[in-house]
Order: sequence, then C-alpha cells, then structure tokens
Amino acid sequence: MKKTVLITGASRGIGRAAARLFAREGYAVAIHYNQSEAEAFRLKEELSAQGHTAITVQADVSCRDQVFAMVDKTLQYFSQIDILVCNAGIAHQKLFTDITPREWRNFFAVNLDGMFHCCQAVLPSMLHRKAGKIITLSSMWGLTGASCEVAYSATKAAVIGLTRALAKELGPSGITVNSVAPGVIDTDMNRNLDEASIEALKEETPLGVLGTPEDIAASILFLASPGADFITGQVLSPNGGFII
Ligand code: NAP
Repeated sequence: MKKTVLITGASRGIGRAAARLFAREGYAVAIHYNQSEAEAFRLKEELSAQGHTAITVQADVSCRDQVFAMVDKTLQYFSQIDILVCNAGIAHQKLFTDITPREWRNFFAVNLDGMFHCCQAVLPSMLHRKAGKIITLSSMWGLTGASCEVAYSATKAAVIGLTRALAKELGPSGITVNSVAPGVIDTDMNRNLDEASIEALKEETPLGVLGTPEDIAASILFLASPGADFITGQVLSPNGGFII
C-alpha cells in the first residue's frame, strides 16, 4: 500500500513543491488548499496525469470544524495518514506599533491554531496505529526574530515550542514531530518585497541566493523518510547560512 501524506497549503509555494516531491517518491498525496482552488485542482491534474495518486481537500486551517472535516475526507479516500505536513501560513511586514489586535489574532489563528487543529484532527488515527510523522513549518525568523515581522516571528517561535513539546509527548507512541525553519524562499509570500530588499536579503545570505520551494521540500521529505526515524523534536533550518 502507498504511504500517504496530507500537506496543508499545497496549492502554492513550498507546499506545492512538497506535494510534487512526495508524489514522485510514491506517496499518495492529499493536496490541501484554502482559497486557491484552481491551483490545487491543476496540481492534482498534473500529478494524476503522471500516474500518481492525489486528491484535493479544502479548509481554512483557522477554522476547527473545517479542519476536522478535511481530515475526515482525507481518511475516507486514504485509509490512513502516515505523514502530516503543517505548512499553511501567512506573513506580512508591518511596524509592531501598527499591528492591530485583529491582525495579531489572525496571525496566531492561521499560523499556530491551524497547526493545533490539524494535529488534533490527525492524531487519533496516528495514536491508534502507534506510527506517524508530523512536520511543521516554522521559519528562521522564529529562531532569531525579524524586524517588522514581530507577529509572524512570534507565531513561528511558538511553532517550535509546539513541535518540541509535542515530540516529547508523542515519542512513547512512536510518532515523531519535527520542524523545518526555512530562510528566505522565492514564493508568493515574498512577492511584496521590492528588488532592493530582495538583493539585501541575498547579500546577507552566505550562499548568495534565495532558497527555492524545492530546497525546502527536500528537507520536509527527509524528515518524513525512514532515515529520520530516530529524529524527533528537532528544527532543521535550510537557510543558505543566513543564521548558523
Ligand atoms: P505561500 O506561497 O504564500 O503559500 C501559502 C499557502 O498557505 C497557500 O497554499 C495558502 O492556501 C495557504 N494558506 C494561507 N492561509 C490559509 C488559511 N487560513 N487556511 C488554509 N490555508 C492557508 O507561502 P510559502 O512561502 O509557500 O510558505 C509556506 C510555509 O513556509 C508557511 O508556513 C511559511 O510561514 C513558511 N516559510 C516561508 C518562507 C518564505 O520565505 N517563503 C520562509 C520561512 C518559512 P490558498 O492559497 O489555497 O488560500
């Protein structure tokens, strides 16, 4: 039987690259999306045309009921979820003094509560089998903090706390929990940055380039692989040397 993976935020960017990579590696892939329905359907068509197994599932990850319905739907198609990749997230730059309470709450609702709902929805079936791997997407800003990204950095630091604590709690049940904390990656998330800011970020990166979604997909796949069976509670930061 094919191994199965549910990837949140797989309609675009890092999640989409991960969906393609897992499919190529023989996984059946549940492509989650929220608003980018056309992109998600296009990806499903692409993977199906290549002979891979893929479905699409929709949910706003900040909405608990929608997340539980999405996981139910995935479990109806695939009898189990071997790997959960909590990737969906939002970011934007703003001075801390300008962030409204509503914006602050929305960051946490999507970037942190979303992972809480996804993990709680998937875990009963993983606990039943005493097997499974959860991979969360943090950010190097969750490790170091970024100016004008205080809310984002706070959510991503919290993701690391969630990952480490959950790894301890789930280790005895045979479930690993790890995080990938990327550097600056060339996706829609950074499209609002002007050219000068992008060049400055490249200059600050010892490898001199932005990362690609495929770079991050490779780290996610590694943490899902049997080679990572003894790794849990860890943060892998593919960031081109930006932080060491
Ligand atoms: P992206 O290209 O902006 O894509 C974001 C994805 O998240 C989309 O698939 C989007 O779905 C989904 N999403 C957003 N809000 C959602 C919601 N409320 N409910 C469900 N899904 C939602 O982002 P990315 O660059 O690939 O980032 C992916 C992850 O990596 C994020 O957690 C991000 O924080 C992290 N990361 C990114 C970078 C970077 O430089 N790009 C660096 C470090 C960490 P729809 O489009 O279907 O709505």
